[in-house]
Amino acid sequence: MALVLLIAIPAFAQNNGPIRIKPLMAYTQDDLGVTTPWFTVGEEINFVMAHEVKGTGSYRYRIEVLDNAGVLIYKIKSGAIDIDTATFQTENIIYELNEVPWGAGYFTLKAFYVDVKTGNTWSHQTKIHVQDPPELEIGELLSQVNESKILVTASDLQGFGTREVGSQANDDAATYLYDRFAAIPRLTVAYQGGALQNVVATLAGTDEASDKVYIVGAHYDSAPGSPGATDNACGVGIVFELARIMSKYRFKHDLKFVAWNAEESGSGGSYAYVNEAQSNYENIELYVNFDSAGYDPNGRLVLDIMFNALSSGVADRMSQLNNSYGLGFTITNNVHSCWSDHKPFWEHGIRSVMTHSEEHGPAHTANDTVDKISTLYAKKNGQLGMAVLAELAALEGRVSSVGENLLQRFGQEPRNEKSIKEIADTLARPRTALSP
Ligand SMILES: [Zn+2]
Repeated sequence: MALVLLIAIPAFAQNNGPIRIKPLMAYTQDDLGVTTPWFTVGEEINFVMAHEVKGTGSYRYRIEVLDNAGVLIYKIKSGAIDIDTATFQTENIIYELNEVPWGAGYFTLKAFYVDVKTGNTWSHQTKIHVQDPPELEIGELLSQVNESKILVTASDLQGFGTREVGSQANDDAATYLYDRFAAIPRLTVAYQGGALQNVVATLAGTDEASDKVYIVGAHYDSAPGSPGATDNACGVGIVFELARIMSKYRFKHDLKFVAWNAEESGSGGSYAYVNEAQSNYENIELYVNFDSAGYDPNGRLVLDIMFNALSSGVADRMSQLNNSYGLGFTITNNVHSCWSDHKPFWEHGIRSVMTHSEEHGPAHTANDTVDKISTLYAKKNGQLGMAVLAELAALEGRVSSVGENLLQRFGQEPRNEKSIKEIADTLARPRTALSP
């Protein structure tokens, strides 16, 4: 849910400068509490900020979010305002704040202003209350899976062109995937497999005594001549959604999010990984494979779960989770028999399941473009995989250590800066409480 909060952040002069002094007291927490609901932790918020200045001059500003210990979480925006008339002017900015700091009780919104000519500075801050988070359930994670984010990743990959292993596009895609993983806080990213360039992102579990590893992956290479959207940029998009969401939570056991290479030429990437894992005695409890994971042109929601004897219990559990979370799939079992990156895991006696759409669709053809992806189907498929992984890797809590998040974000630009835009004129006057 997106709430809109109107906050006017005035630039005010110390004495007789050209900027109108606005009363700070208009922004007490009580005042905010009256006019806005408290925000639930993790909620998406839109801030509307209005700088109110009067007179001519140039001003620079930056707006930051601080945690309840005064530590910078992120810089929302910095910029300049030029006022070239003597009349009262307002500049409005919308910022979409996707994640409210966890468990802090409140966070602080702070604005700094500098008069470019005189060097005079001002600042203003206000506390924003945050509700205690609700009881943690796996459904909370599932509800965050975002269809459009899956599609964005798939479109980005398609944009590189046919990603046949060994091609420049394949190499470019590997770099893109590495950078994407690296931008997610709390993940450790590495290439694996030498020239094959699997991209492996690890979310460390909380239990240091546990050596159990849960892996979810999808191949990013495509068949020769195919844009590889449903096969398998969509699968990679699902894996990134799981990484984005699950990295905001703590699990007892390690989770790995992997983009494999060279599936179309015999699963060379995943073989390289499993071989190395075997020599390192990595204790892989389960591998969940997404391939051909989002093709459902008629909205039939028929999903095939492919499993072997060792993994039949996981497949059974997924069928139960499909019901308990109301995902609405009609589940079939082992209708498909195609080999994908689950194969090396099966061959080494490691539990693994793969989901497959009802039909192959345009896979391996020039027509396999992102418009063929059924995003709702892909979202539900990702939710099902995330449900079983969250359960088995033992979901323990949210990332409640604000500082842990903050350190990694310090100095980083917000991920959704692009959502800043002018607000409608109807929102231009922020609050009547502002009048002096
Ligand atoms: Zn494939």
